[in-house]
Amino acid sequence: MDPTVPTDSSSTPSERVFADRHIGPSADELERILHVVGVPTLDDLATKSVPQAILDDAPSGVGAGLDALPLPVGEHDALAELAQRAEQNTVAVSMIGLGYYDTLTPPVITRGILENPAWYTAYTPYQPEISQGQLEALLNFQTMVADLTGMEVANASMLDEATAAAEAMTLLRRANRASTSPRFVVDTDVFPQTLAVLETRAAPLGIELVRCDLSHGLPDGEFFGLLTQTPGASGVVRDLSVIVARAHERRALVAVGADLLALTLVTPPGEVGADACFGTSQRFGVPMGYGGPHAGYLAVRSTHSRQLPGRLVGVSVDADGDVAYRLALQTREQHIRREKATSNICTAQVLLAIVAAMYASYHGSDGLRSIALRVKAHASALAAGLRDAGVSLAGDAFFDTVTATVPGRAGAVEAAAKDAGINLRLVDDDTVSVSCDEATTDEHVDAVLAAFGAERSDANGADSLPASARRTSEFLTHPAFTRHRTETSMLRYLRMLSDKDIALDRSMIPLGSCTMKLNATAEMESITWPQFARLHPFAPDDDTVGIRSVIADVEQWLVDITGYDAVSLQPNAGSQGEYAGLLAIRDYHIGRGDGHRNICLIPSSAHGTNAASAVMVGMKVVVVACRTNGDVDVDDLRAKIDQHADSLAAIMITYPSTHGVYEHQIDDICAAVHDAGGQVYVDGANLNALVGLARPGKFGGDVSHLNLHKTFCIPHGGGGPGIGPIGVRAHLQPYLPGHPLREGLGGGAPVAAAPYGSASILTITWAYIRMMGAVGLRRATLTAIASANYIARRLDEHFPVLYTGDNGMVAHECILDLRELTKRTGVTVDDVAKRLADYGFHAPTMSFPVAGTLMVEPTESESLEEIDAFCDAMIAIRVEIDRVGSGEWPVDDNPLRGAPHTARSLAREWSHPYTREEAAFPDTGAGRAKVWPAVRRIDGAHGDRNLVCSCPPIESFA
Ligand SMILES: *Cc1c(COP(=O)(O)O)cnc(C)c1O
Repeated sequence: MDPTVPTDSSSTPSERVFADRHIGPSADELERILHVVGVPTLDDLATKSVPQAILDDAPSGVGAGLDALPLPVGEHDALAELAQRAEQNTVAVSMIGLGYYDTLTPPVITRGILENPAWYTAYTPYQPEISQGQLEALLNFQTMVADLTGMEVANASMLDEATAAAEAMTLLRRANRASTSPRFVVDTDVFPQTLAVLETRAAPLGIELVRCDLSHGLPDGEFFGLLTQTPGASGVVRDLSVIVARAHERRALVAVGADLLALTLVTPPGEVGADACFGTSQRFGVPMGYGGPHAGYLAVRSTHSRQLPGRLVGVSVDADGDVAYRLALQTREQHIRREKATSNICTAQVLLAIVAAMYASYHGSDGLRSIALRVKAHASALAAGLRDAGVSLAGDAFFDTVTATVPGRAGAVEAAAKDAGINLRLVDDDTVSVSCDEATTDEHVDAVLAAFGAERSDANGADSLPASARRTSEFLTHPAFTRHRTETSMLRYLRMLSDKDIALDRSMIPLGSCTMKLNATAEMESITWPQFARLHPFAPDDDTVGIRSVIADVEQWLVDITGYDAVSLQPNAGSQGEYAGLLAIRDYHIGRGDGHRNICLIPSSAHGTNAASAVMVGMKVVVVACRTNGDVDVDDLRAKIDQHADSLAAIMITYPSTHGVYEHQIDDICAAVHDAGGQVYVDGANLNALVGLARPGKFGGDVSHLNLHKTFCIPHGGGGPGIGPIGVRAHLQPYLPGHPLREGLGGGAPVAAAPYGSASILTITWAYIRMMGAVGLRRATLTAIASANYIARRLDEHFPVLYTGDNGMVAHECILDLRELTKRTGVTVDDVAKRLADYGFHAPTMSFPVAGTLMVEPTESESLEEIDAFCDAMIAIRVEIDRVGSGEWPVDDNPLRGAPHTARSLAREWSHPYTREEAAFPDTGAGRAKVWPAVRRIDGAHGDRNLVCSCPPIESFA
C-alpha cells in the first residue's frame, strides 16, 4: 500500500476518502509522474525539494503543528458537522442596518451564479477572449452603478463599502491638484466602520481626518476633500447640493457614500456635482453572510477615470472589428505600476458584483423602485407610529432607517425586540436605530412598534423624502436591464454568458501563482445555507455561536498549518492581508520607539501588490536584485541592509519564490533582516507548495498573508471573492486588526468593514481542511510539486524552464521561457496564450514575474490525463512556432497570430496560408470538447484610447 494514502476516520463506509476526490492523479498516474520526475516516492520528493533546514517531519497522526489537525472525515460527515454548526446560529429578523440588509436573492440567481461552477470557478479575465461572458456581466455592474449614482464611470469592484470609502479618499487626493492641504473632512454621520477604516488608511499617508457634523455646515480652514453619506448612519437623507457646491467653492472635491436601493428614489450624487460616489451592492441580492463577501463600488466623473483604482471593464474591438470587452487602463494597476499604482487591489469581488448586476437586471428599474418604495413605506409606518407615541426621531427625511430617541430606554427597547426575534441597532443608552429592507413585513413593523410601546398610526404622514430630494431621472434603460423579466429568459442569459468563458469546469487553468485547484461541491454547499448567509455582521453573539465556532476552528487550523501564534481573518484579499501585516509591522516599530523605520525591501520578482501595499503604509520600497538563477541576490540584499540599516522596517519575500523555487538561503535572508532590526513579511500566496512541509512562522517569518482563494479552495469567482488572513508571531499579535463594533479582536486598526471580513465563505476552507486532514494536505502539496516538476520535464526541451533549484527541481510551478523563441520567430507569449484557447485551454500566467514567459501551475487537482493534454497542446504549438520560424508561415499571418479563431471567422472569406481546420481544429487529442472563443484577438489599446466603460448600445453589435 502506498504509505502516503491517508487513514480516514469517516464513519460512512460508502464514501471514498475525500483526498482521493480532491487529488487528480490516481496512484498509477502518480507513479508515472514520479518516474518522469526521477524520485521514487512523494516523501523523497519532499526531502529533495525543500531545504533541510526548514522541512518539517511528516505528520505522524498525533501532536503539535499539522498533527494537531483533526483526522479527516468524508464529504457527508463534514457537511453534517457544518449543519450542526449552522443550527447553533439563530437567523433573527435583522433590522440593524449600517450597510448590511437582508435581501431576497432570486433563486435563479442563487443557483445560476452563486452555486454554478461555470461562474464561480472562473479566473480574472486577463484572457478576455475566453472571458466575454464574465466581462459582459461586469460591464452590466458598472452600468448599473453609473446609472444609479449618476456618475460617468464605475469600476468592478471594491472589496467592501469601507475600503471603497478609503479608496475614494485617496482618489480625491490624487485628483485634487488645486489643494495641497492634508486635511480631509468626514461627516460624523458615516457608518462607524467606514470612519474607522478611513482613519486606518489616512494615518500612514499623512492625511488628517477632520470629523464634522455637516448638518452645521463645513469646517473652517483648507481641506482637499470631503466625504459624506446618504442616507447617513442615522438614516437621515441630506440635501447634498449645498454641501457639494460649498466644498467646490473652497477647491475641495467631494465623495458621497450612497445606498444603491435608495438611489432609485433619491437624487443621485452625480446630479448634484459629487466627484466620486462609493458604497456597497450587498442589498442587491447578495446575502449578508456575517459580513461578507459583498462587492463595494466606486464611481467617478469621467475626468477622474484614470484615477480609479481596481478593475475596470471597457469596450473595445477584436481583430475582425467586432465589439469585445476587456480590462481597461491596466497601466494604473499594481501588476504593472507596482509602487506607483493607484491601489494595491488585485482580487476584488467579481462574483458578488455579477450577482448584484443580475439582480438589477432581473428586477429592472420598475422592480427596484417598487422594492425601494415598499422599504420606504415600512420605515414611514414605523416613524409614524413612533411619532404618535411621542418618540422623537432623527431628521425628517429618511429612506429605510429610523433613529429614535428614547431616553434611558434604548436597552429595554432593543431587548423587547430581541424577544420578538428582531435585532435592532442599539446606538447608545438613549438611541435605537431600525432599518427596513426587502425582507421586512408589516408584522415586523408591528413587532418593532410594540417593542417601543407604540402602535401603528392611522395618520397619513408626509412623504419621508421631500420633493427636493426625489429622483426624477430614468435609470437602467439599457436592454441588459429590460430584457430578462422571466426566469426562462434569465436562465438562458446566464447560460449564454457562461458558455463564452473557460472556467475550471471546462479545462485546467494552469495559472502560476494563482493556484486554480478544485473547489469541491461539498466545500461550496454550505455558503448559501440561510443559517450562515442571513447573519448580520453585528448580530448579537448568541445568534452567531455556530459561525463563530467555524471561525475559531479556521483560525486555529491556520495557526497549526503556518506555525504562527495568531491569525486574523479580517482581510478580504491577499493584498489587504499584505496591508494589514505591514501595518502590524509599522505599529510594532512605532511601539518600540522605532517609528523612523520605513524602508521595505522587496525582491524584483515580487507580486505587484507587495510594493503597492508597502506604499499604502507609508513605507519606501527598495528593490533587491535577483541572481540569474532566480534567487534573491543575497549580496545585494546585504548591501541594501547595510545602506538602510537604521531605517530598515521589513523585507517582503515570497516563499517559495514567484520564480517557482525553494530558495535555499531563506533562513540566512530572514536572519540578516532580523539582525538589522527589520521584520520579515513572508508573502504566503504560494502556500500550496508549503502546507505540511514547512511553516513560515517557524522558519523566519514574523507575518504572512495566506490566500484562502488559492491554497484553501475558495473559488476565484472570476477575480473574487477571496480571503487574505494574516498569521503573526506573538510579538505582532497586539497589532492584528481590531474593529470598532467588536471587542476581543486585535488592538490594531481595522482594515475592512466587517470584523471577520468575508466570514460566510470560511466554511469552504473549513470543509477543505476538515476533509483532507494533515496527511491529505501534505499529500496534496507534494502532488502539486510532483505535477509541476513533471510539466517542467516534459516541456523543457520545447520551452526551456527558466529557473530550477540547486537540485534541478521546481516547486509547485514553473516558468517557461519564450524570449529566445520570440526573438528568433517573432511569435510572442501573447500568441501562444491566445492559441491555447483554440486548443481549449486557458493560458498560464503571462509575463509574470518575468516578461516574455509563461508560468504554469497545475495544482494537485489535475489528473495526469489533463496535464498531458495540456503538455501535448504546448508541444503542438511549439511545432507551429517552428513552422513560422522556418518561414513556412509568415510571422504576421499564421494560426498563432490569428488566434483565437471564432466560428464566425471560419465562415468568412478565407485567405490565410493555413487551413480552416488548422485554425480551429488543431490536434487536441481524442475526445476533448471544442471550445469556441466568443471573439477574436482584442485590441486593448483601441479601448484605452476610446474609453467606454458601460454597456454599448445594442446597435453597435449590428
Ligand atoms: C495572488 C497573489 C497576491 C495577491 O493576492 P490577492 O488576493 O489577489 O490580493 C500577492 N502575492 C502573490 C505572490 C500572489 O500570487
